[in-house]
Amino acid sequence: MSQAPLSIQLDLAIIGGGVAGLWLANRAKSAGFNVALFESKALGSDQTLASQGMIHGGMKYTLAGALTGASEAIAEMPKHWRACLCGEGDVNLRHTRILSDHFFMWSSDDLGSKITGFLASKITRGRVDQVHSDRRPPLLRHPLFTGSLYRLEDLVIDAPSLVANLAHNIEGRCFQIDWSSAQLNKNADGEVSISVNTGDQHIQIHAQRFIFTAGKGNAELLRELGLESPAMQLRPLQQVMVKHHHPFDFYGHCLGRETTPRLTISSHRLPDGGHVWYLGGSLAEKGAQLPADELIELAKQELQELIPWMNLEGAEWATLHVERAEPLQANFVRPDNAFIARAEGASNLLVGWPTKLTLAPNLANQAFELLQADGITPSAGTGNLHDYLPYAEIAKTPWEIAFPPAISAEEALALRFREPDEDDVE
Ligand SMILES: Cc1cc2nc3c(=O)[nH]c(=O)nc-3n(C[C@H](O)[C@H](O)[C@H](O)COP(=O)(O)OP(=O)(O)OC[C@H]3O[C@@H](n4cnc5c(N)ncnc54)[C@H](O)[C@@H]3O)c2cc1C
Repeated sequence: MSQAPLSIQLDLAIIGGGVAGLWLANRAKSAGFNVALFESKALGSDQTLASQGMIHGGMKYTLAGALTGASEAIAEMPKHWRACLCGEGDVNLRHTRILSDHFFMWSSDDLGSKITGFLASKITRGRVDQVHSDRRPPLLRHPLFTGSLYRLEDLVIDAPSLVANLAHNIEGRCFQIDWSSAQLNKNADGEVSISVNTGDQHIQIHAQRFIFTAGKGNAELLRELGLESPAMQLRPLQQVMVKHHHPFDFYGHCLGRETTPRLTISSHRLPDGGHVWYLGGSLAEKGAQLPADELIELAKQELQELIPWMNLEGAEWATLHVERAEPLQANFVRPDNAFIARAEGASNLLVGWPTKLTLAPNLANQAFELLQADGITPSAGTGNLHDYLPYAEIAKTPWEIAFPPAISAEEALALRFREPDEDDVE
């Protein structure tokens, strides 16, 4: 251990490398802040890589709003993302893959007129189109399909490429933090700092502002500091993954009688090209507490009822337990905007949850407003973390983990370049 502790002074120290932290770090770097991000597992862990990638203007929530009066706070988000994806927005997402430039909403034909009437009213505002039978996606192009189908001009992005793109833009600033050798501190003035012991070096990290964007990890981080506010709520889900043999990619919600979609399907590819449908919506909410095999049975029944012409024989099934982390709301309602606020009891700490992937830009905007209000401006900063902390890696997707390749990439490569052995020689 060297004698003198090393002191690092940052403008912004962001804790948690999901979409919220990565997006904010991108904005901060562009604005000239001396920023570093600290991730305890791998970038994109927990919710971001487990998301369905839908960048929506809130239609499925305004659908709920048709019944409850929720706000349309996220209506502008798809436009914001489109600009970023074209390299013309506040964050450069030119290397993020777009899986689809639309997604579908379909309703089984027994749905009440309230919902169909609501969708019809949106058609006139140019955000929803009714899809005629000759324009249906392959999955729903079957004589047995009798529901009404709508197309939303919103996006679906590939979350792994989004995380890689955001991380690449801020290369050299995303560090792996191991809390068994690091500690959060708060001094008598309420000032937060981190101390890290690398074995060789003791490092003290100070920042004009610490920002917790650790998803469900925010509550634990606050607890470490003896703080409770802002408080968090968790929405447990159990998503279903099915690896199948159909070439059909599909992105959409099947509407039921409730305000959340009965079933949400998104499509993802495995590294070996295999097809996976990722099933969420009410199925995943109601299934959160079910044993995996019971939920899989339920998912099979739902698919059989909604798309009975699909033969899923030979498909492989798996589930994923995951929790959505949100700021605490009265009556556990879903927040319809991103949230970030100063932590009560600390002088240099902000805590945020985007509540939706879609709203990550909104969270960054709100963070910048708070920084501006507090007079936080870019400074030169001091010290260099590169020599002491490893860089954070990118996490694997849930479907990569659930359906590992039969042989590893190394083994596949070795097979291709196999040395001829004695058995091969006649
Ligand atoms: C199944 C599912 C589907 C979804 N689908 C959509 C969708 O289609 N569209 C949409 O808009 N939204 C969707 N969402 C919501 C969206 O995924 C989340 O709102 C968003 O990803 C949250 O991002 P985040 O960065 O706040 O948190 P997270 O993505 O959870 O990231 C938190 C990060 O912090 C790290 N961390 C945790 N604790 C610590 C610690 N102590 N120290 C350092 N790092 C820490 C974690 O490892 C992780 O990398 C979905 C969510 C789920 C669960």
